[in-house]
Amino acid sequence: MSELRFDGRVAVVTGAGHGLGRQHALELAGRGAKVVVNDLGGDRHGGGGASGGPAQQVVDEIVKAGGEAVTNPDNVATPEGAEAIVQAAIDAFGKIDIVINNAGILRDRSFRNMSPEEFDSVIAVHLRGSFLVSRAAWSHLRDQGYGRVVNTSSPAGLFGNFGQANYSAAKMGLVGLTRTLAAEGAKYGIKANVIAPIAWTRMTEDVIPADFADQLGVDKVTPLVTYLAHESNETTGEIYTVGGGKIARVFVAETDGWVQKGEQTAEDVRDHWEQVNDGTSYTVPKNIGEQTMALFQALQ
Ligand code: NAD
Repeated sequence: MSELRFDGRVAVVTGAGHGLGRQHALELAGRGAKVVVNDLGGDRHGGGGASGGPAQQVVDEIVKAGGEAVTNPDNVATPEGAEAIVQAAIDAFGKIDIVINNAGILRDRSFRNMSPEEFDSVIAVHLRGSFLVSRAAWSHLRDQGYGRVVNTSSPAGLFGNFGQANYSAAKMGLVGLTRTLAAEGAKYGIKANVIAPIAWTRMTEDVIPADFADQLGVDKVTPLVTYLAHESNETTGEIYTVGGGKIARVFVAETDGWVQKGEQTAEDVRDHWEQVNDGTSYTVPKNIGEQTMALFQALQ
C-alpha cells in the first residue's frame, strides 16, 4: 500500500505546542509537509502569559527528525494574529495548502454562572479563530485551486455538555462554518471537514478516567486528520468523531416529518407530534438545497 506523503505541501497547525495539535504537526512533518507550528503558549484556560516556548520545542523536534518547520506565536483570535500565522507560511515556504484549526481553551462554568466574558473568550479562540485563520488562508487556497481545511469540533458541541455552554456553542458553530467552507470551496478544489475528537491531553486529564488514558492517546486522532488533509481524499463537508481507535461519521438528518398544506394550528402539531419526531425514516441532506428541495417536492 502506498504511503500518504505530503512532500511539497505546506501546512499550518494552530495550537500545535501541546496535545493534539503537536501530534498533527509532528505527523505531517514526518510525512514530508513543511509546517507552521502556531501556539500562543499559556495554560488551558488561555491565561498564564503568552510564550513561544511550546511551539519552539515542537519545531526543534521536527527539525531534529529531518523535517522542516517554523514556529509562530500569534493569537488565532485576532485578525492580525491570523494574518501573521498564514503569512509565516508564505514567508518561510512560499505558499499554504493545509489549514488545521486546532487551537482551543476552556472556561467551563454552569450556565447560570457563566459570564459574558467567559462565553466570548471561548467563542473567540475556537470559532472566531478558525474563521480568521481560514479567512487569511482562503485567497491563497482559492488562487491555487487547492486546499484542505480540517476544523476541530467536539462531542460536547455535537451533543451538548453540562458546564460548557460557551465551548459547545463554539464547537457546533464550527460545524456550520465547515459546511459553508465546503460549499464555497467546492469549485476551487478546497475540501473542508470537521473532527470531534477525544484524547488524553492537559485539556481533558481531569475529566477522562485515568484508566482510559493509555487507549486515548493523541496518536489515535492524528491519522484521521492526516488522511483528511491529504490530496487523495476528496471528502468534504463531513463530521467525524475520533478517538481511542474508533472513527465514525456523524451526520445531520431530517426525519420524514409531517407535512400539512393549508392552515396549521398548534393542535395539529400536537396531534402529529409522533410523526414529526419519528426517526425510523429520514434523509441526510448534503446541503441546504437538498433540504429545501425535499420541502418543495412535498408541497407540489
Ligand atoms: P491542549 O490544551 O493540549 O492544546 C490546545 C493548544 O491551543 C495549546 O497548546 C494552547 O496553547 C493553544 N492555544 C490556545 N489558545 C490559543 C490562541 N488564541 N492562539 C494560538 N494557540 C492557542 O488541548 P487539546 O486537547 O490538544 O485540544 C486541541 C483541540 O481539540 C481543541 O480545539 C479542543 O477543544 C479540541 N478537543 C479536544 C478534546 C480532547 O479530548 N482532548 C475533545 C474535544 C475537542
